Amino acid sequence: MTTHILVTGSSRGIGRAVMQAFRDRDVHLVGHASRASDKTAIAADLSREGAAAELWEQALDRLDGRIDAIVNNAGIFEAAPLDMADAEWSAAWERTMRINLTASAELCRLAVRHFREQARGGRIINIASRAAYRGDSPAHWHYAASKAGMVAMTKTIARGHAAENILAFAVCPGFTMTGMAEDYLASRGGDRLLADIPLGRVAMPEEVAETVRFLALEAPPSMTGAVIDVNGASYVR
Ligand code: NAD
Repeated sequence: MTTHILVTGSSRGIGRAVMQAFRDRDVHLVGHASRASDKTAIAADLSREGAAAELWEQALDRLDGRIDAIVNNAGIFEAAPLDMADAEWSAAWERTMRINLTASAELCRLAVRHFREQARGGRIINIASRAAYRGDSPAHWHYAASKAGMVAMTKTIARGHAAENILAFAVCPGFTMTGMAEDYLASRGGDRLLADIPLGRVAMPEEVAETVRFLALEAPPSMTGAVIDVNGASYVR
């Protein structure tokens, strides 16, 4: 049977590669973007309360009332240096938590409830980050914390719902050559950063996408709860 999949943040970077990885498969896909730039994707600004639920409803509509898998990929990596004004730093913290963690949690909850109703199970793939384990820069406490939260949430879903055939996986990319990573490389002096990656290069979005495709369509159920690193051995655990 055709697998119905919602991918958040599919307008560029890793999300766009994920959409491509599902091409030529027996998949009915719906993408999402923060703004209505791409008319094939659902527009929803996940920094806004209530947006995740609206996105879910619209995705269900477009997918004929059945979703089998969700890929929570939308995310931000915005610097919040410690010397920012107090209110600004706190606002940056809240914004990162809302987009990266709260909106993903809301979508996971709606997915689990839907999978139960359908009584057929389903799959959740959360795109976290190497930062969940390794930490990040002094300007990115919020980012690392949001991704660590995502990993803990994924494991909790996996343990709580495996018996209902609801499977949950997290993917932890290291630096990945998207807009985000290019900025990062430039800001940190690319070569020094690369020296920290035994593979000698950052990951390509297609490598992360291939991992997501496998988890969504093929991974054996016993893998539920797994966290897959895609980081060129820059952080092994
Ligand atoms: P990107 O900036 O290229 O794309 C991010 C996506 O998230 C876009 O589609 C964007 O529309 C969406 N998004 C951003 N803000 C949003 C908002 N307010 N509402 C709705 N959607 C919003 O990023 P990317 O590098 O492709 O990252 C994708 C995921 O992978 C993110 O969760 C990111 O944290 C994670 N990740 C990326 C890297 C990396 O080095 N690129 C490393 C580890 C993890």
